[in-house]
Amino acid sequence: MEQTVEQKLKALYELQSLHTKIDKIRQIRGELPMEVSDLEDEVAGLETRIQKIKTELDETEDAIVNRKNMIKEAQTLIKKYDTQLKDVKNNREYDALTKEIEIQNLEIQVCEKKIREHGFEITSKTEIYEQANANLELRKGDLELKKKELETITSETGKEEDGLLKKAEKASTQIEDRLLNAYTRLRKNAVNGLAVVTIDRDSCSGCFNQIPPQRQLDIRQRKKVIVCEHCGRILVDELITQENAEN
Ligand SMILES: [Zn+2]
Repeated sequence: MEQTVEQKLKALYELQSLHTKIDKIRQIRGELPMEVSDLEDEVAGLETRIQKIKTELDETEDAIVNRKNMIKEAQTLIKKYDTQLKDVKNNREYDALTKEIEIQNLEIQVCEKKIREHGFEITSKTEIYEQANANLELRKGDLELKKKELETITSETGKEEDGLLKKAEKASTQIEDRLLNAYTRLRKNAVNGLAVVTIDRDSCSGCFNQIPPQRQLDIRQRKKVIVCEHCGRILVDELITQENAEN
């Protein structure tokens, strides 16, 4: 069965349309797994950060408890020295005890200062902790949505893709080997996967270079396979695209 050039062009355009649909499906699905894994990394990062802040908060709270205990110890010592002061035997003993009391009072002041500083630390860190937690909840929500989207798209487009692949396989059997090889080579080399393109506003819709009027006429005649002078893609006229869509 010898095909006319017009039939060949229609078959090529049909194959291109099927492949473009498959490309689009793969493109949509292709970005989602990456988005999901990016979000998973972000959630894990936030969880680690929150855990670190929590540990620091616990440590600061422990430090406050320690300082409070040190104050109690100092106060106990002061009480003891006060009692001893009541029956000192000489000036030397008196001076030694008052010196000890002075030291313990200084110790208490240092501890109180540290407790205040730790208090400020806890206030600002708690704020950061709460913000990080709120952020984590948001990101977790985003992640759940993306995961569901991916599941839906995978199950929906899987069937669609299989159907299109079967159609494309069948369509390619309608094209002679020489043309099919040229088509496959063009498609592989083109960034957008387009091997067959239309005339769009007097230009090649693959590379956007102008097509001379005579060449446009030749393309519309459908008497021979014409490729773009600039990008080498196979050119078809706009009407073929509509005729194919009606089939
Ligand atoms: Zn071109």
